[in-house]
Amino acid sequence: MREYTYVGYDAKIANENEDAPILKITKSSLMNHLWCPKQYDFNYLQGLPQDTSEAMMAGSIMHNSYEDWYNEFDVQKAEGMSPSEIQDYALSLFPIDDYTDFYHTMAAWETNRFIESRGEGKLDQFMPVINEVKLDAEVTIETHDAHLPLRHNHTIHLQGIIDRMFEEDQGYVPVEFKTGKWGNHKATGMRKEMAFYKWLFDATPDEDKVALGLDPEKKITHWAWFFPKNNVFVYEKVKNVSVTGMMKTVVNLLRSYENDDWPTNYRERSCVNCSYYNICDAATNDGWFNI
Ligand code: SF4
Repeated sequence: MREYTYVGYDAKIANENEDAPILKITKSSLMNHLWCPKQYDFNYLQGLPQDTSEAMMAGSIMHNSYEDWYNEFDVQKAEGMSPSEIQDYALSLFPIDDYTDFYHTMAAWETNRFIESRGEGKLDQFMPVINEVKLDAEVTIETHDAHLPLRHNHTIHLQGIIDRMFEEDQGYVPVEFKTGKWGNHKATGMRKEMAFYKWLFDATPDEDKVALGLDPEKKITHWAWFFPKNNVFVYEKVKNVSVTGMMKTVVNLLRSYENDDWPTNYRERSCVNCSYYNICDAATNDGWFNI
């Protein structure tokens, strides 16, 4: 695969010279640009560090705990256990730290899922086929693919880590783990994130899928997300409208690069939490100072 970058990407140069780097897009970078192009500029182009919040640190610890949980859970060991024994066993595989409330919810969720899988004779599908695995792929977006005009074709390097992916009778189901609080207003954004994973998975070379133990013939048919903070698990069929919405987000990012245009997306309530609040013109020009 070609060298890739966030900084200094120029589609015209990349199209004319195979040694020039192509653009890297991850789910995080794409969602960052969707949230605020100027924040993307500060973060990915200017390389200014973001503040590490308590929520980010907690998310990282719990992601590691859940990854370890799946590495350690032994289906054969749990197969003959009673529901309360499974619950105790599931909980015992989480660490003792500041996130016990989350782990109780996650252990209860996994216990119910295990009991259902056992009842349906589908314990072979209980464990994920991939657990925190990074995928890489290259795709090309041509000018005529775009909903808004693009001046150039863009070859892009996609990269992402899928938290978990499960195999069902009809296909694969990626499941995203979130440690924040769920609200229905997050559904559109979650679907775009899941659509990004589907795009990445579809574009991953077959030989890489085989090396990971995946069947290249199988498609992602559903996606799901789990918010243990308020015990919400959403599972649904892939929505083509979300795939289209995600691709529009990608084209908007490419247009920012083509036009070197990184507009602010100022929102009074959320911008106060932005790491770049004090250097952002939209934030510093807002409100009282204009009176
Ligand atoms: S303060 Fe708001 S408008 Fe400015 S960069 Fe941050 S998110 Fe964007």
